[in-house]
Amino acid sequence: MPSTHLKQRAANVFQDVCGYPATTFVQAPGRVNLIGEHTDYNDGFVMPCAIDYQAVIACAKRDDGVIRLISVDYDHIQDSFVVNQEIKPTEDKLWANYMRGVVHFLKEKGYSLGGADIAITGNVPLGSGLSSSAALEVVTGQAMKALYELDVTQSDLALIGQASEHNFAGCKCGIMDQMISACGEKGHALLLDCRSLETKSVHIPEGVSIMIVNSNVTHSLVDGAYNALREQCEEASRLLGKVALRDATLAELGASSIKKGSDVYKRAHHVISENERTVACADALIAGDLQKVGEYMYASHASMRDDFEITVPEIDYIVEVLTEALGNKGGARMTGGGFGGCCVALMPTEMVPQVQAAIEAKYQAKTGIKESIYICTPQNGAGVI
Ligand code: ADP
Ligand code: MG
Repeated sequence: MPSTHLKQRAANVFQDVCGYPATTFVQAPGRVNLIGEHTDYNDGFVMPCAIDYQAVIACAKRDDGVIRLISVDYDHIQDSFVVNQEIKPTEDKLWANYMRGVVHFLKEKGYSLGGADIAITGNVPLGSGLSSSAALEVVTGQAMKALYELDVTQSDLALIGQASEHNFAGCKCGIMDQMISACGEKGHALLLDCRSLETKSVHIPEGVSIMIVNSNVTHSLVDGAYNALREQCEEASRLLGKVALRDATLAELGASSIKKGSDVYKRAHHVISENERTVACADALIAGDLQKVGEYMYASHASMRDDFEITVPEIDYIVEVLTEALGNKGGARMTGGGFGGCCVALMPTEMVPQVQAAIEAKYQAKTGIKESIYICTPQNGAGVI
């Protein structure tokens, strides 16, 4: 759905609920990660792009210091709190917690805020690995930035969104999702160094299409599993004597005291090799070498399946069908945190119909679940619309 529809929907609900028109509209996109999975919280590299699915807010200032959140997508349910009092997570409205946390951390960083009416909608599929949660956090920060003309950088909005996800939603995510949602660039992926937050734009060559295949298996238990994986990575870097796995090599892992084939060994093997693949894949994409890009993507998938153990049979099957259809003309892998969600494929645009047909013919027949397919073009990050 184009953002104009989302904007209209948010505007209509805002008017209905608040009884006056919104003054300001902002958006923040979801994202697809082309390569670099579970490397972000290990201080490593990732290469996502922002996509044409977004969170959109219609909003206006209030002069009584109250912030009222209206969920367009959840039956117009509301949440409200006072900006100058202590802001805590709610017990029962998880969606509002992502937003409350953003306001809390903006305040904590010293930004001066007032009240607001805020209607939120979006079309990033929830819990599918396209990061609807980061879009929600970043769009909330963007709304406050626009309303109160805050002198806050896009990177700081990303960090504030991450702090909210850690402390108000309970998921110890890395910084990738918020960074790409805040800083994405039309027509480009971003090679992001998650330690320094330096970015390098990587142009998606003409004639290359990005296909996302949603398995429609959602990752309901992801937060617990995610946090556990993160702990195993921290354990590995401690045993290797490194600040983070980003600083380790496969040779060091092989020579270390970590038992080969143990969970901690396998997790570290994935992260260290994935980091190398991500940097190499960016170079291959810049060189327009789609065959090489494909090799790195296939290898990334195998590593997530065998070493990080975050794929599920439905996801492995999608990648199998994509691999069969694409061969060495493109590449495919699971994308996102894991345990369901989406796969991403890069391919020559003329192959899109045949690849799509292969998935449509096989996935539901094998699994009983109907997939969703999105063809995406890289978009700009968050901003006023
Ligand atoms: P992902 O980020 O992969 O989509 P998460 O589990 O991290 O999955 O985040 C999904 C949660 O984010 C939803 O359950 C909901 O609470 C919240 N959310 C995301 N987008 C919206 C939205 N437009 N309106 C309300 N809540 C949303
Ligand atoms: Mg999320």
